[in-house]
Amino acid sequence: MNGKLGNIVKNYLKGNLRCAEFALTNACIAKCSFCGIWKQTPKVYVDTDKALRAIDRLADFGVAHMCFTGGEALLHPHAVEIVERASKRKINSAMLLAAPQLLLRNDMAKRLEAAGNDLVSISFDSGDPEIMAQSRQIENIMDDLARALEAVRKTRVKTMASVLIWNGNFDKLKDVCDEAVRMGFDFISLNYPTFSESTVYELGGEGISLSPEQLIQSLESAIELKKKKGCRIINAASSMRNIVNYLKDPASARYHCFGGRHVMFVDWFFDVYPCMQLPDSLGNILTMEEKALDIAPCNKCNMSWYRDLSTFFHGPRSLPMILEAAASSGKLL
Ligand code: SF4
Repeated sequence: MNGKLGNIVKNYLKGNLRCAEFALTNACIAKCSFCGIWKQTPKVYVDTDKALRAIDRLADFGVAHMCFTGGEALLHPHAVEIVERASKRKINSAMLLAAPQLLLRNDMAKRLEAAGNDLVSISFDSGDPEIMAQSRQIENIMDDLARALEAVRKTRVKTMASVLIWNGNFDKLKDVCDEAVRMGFDFISLNYPTFSESTVYELGGEGISLSPEQLIQSLESAIELKKKKGCRIINAASSMRNIVNYLKDPASARYHCFGGRHVMFVDWFFDVYPCMQLPDSLGNILTMEEKALDIAPCNKCNMSWYRDLSTFFHGPRSLPMILEAAASSGKLL
């Protein structure tokens, strides 16, 4: 067991395993129709020294898995240094990005590997180059993506296609997943569309205006895909079923969300939120006490990362998720 996996297991057994999404900047290259962050002014980049302290505090609170996000986290001039601190604290890390060309600049793939980064998760909405370019407003994005994947393949860092379920792909997930595999992604994660109430992390828009029935149809097709041997989708089928139940009737969701308690969002002001969805901060990571994270479970939305990870914290009822994760994506850690 490597040190980071050991850290996850140790914190899990102690009951205080936490996962965090840490947004390093609101600056972005893409102009996605379902996100308002790229329109924000002024552009804010986290202070590097404070970010390193924030990582130490998060590690002390039990954070053992962290996603670096933005905006576009790799636009932060010291993103690699920040990743390196996470690795030193045995935090498994994923770098999220929408603009794959960032992996091709400044030897970034190799520098991330040297910093101990575990995974790059790249937005992948469609196998069609024109739709991809249109949806992210980045010309030639597919060519950049192919070259970025080739660069990352030469390192130990794993790659994940981050597939947002949206109006253009909800009924063709198999095609999108097949194309992600053909391009060489190691894993696929599905993101369930959501409209946030947050003024910091603005999510929503016409492109993701799916009806609950359309999203249910899409998730049911993903659950079928999960039955196929070698499927690279990491979302647990049991968790997707939970979201299907939620969409049919929120009261029938068996697994509530531990936003704040076990999963959290830290923004570019170091303010901590239960998730990217809710508008009220729980405190500032540089000054807050750990007990501020002990908030009641929530069942207010279907946001994937928060809902999926929360299913692992339900005691014996989490066993199906744990077994599934161990079987299907053990190589992720
Ligand atoms: S259910 Fe949604 S709104 Fe509630 S904490 Fe989880 S992600 Fe946030």
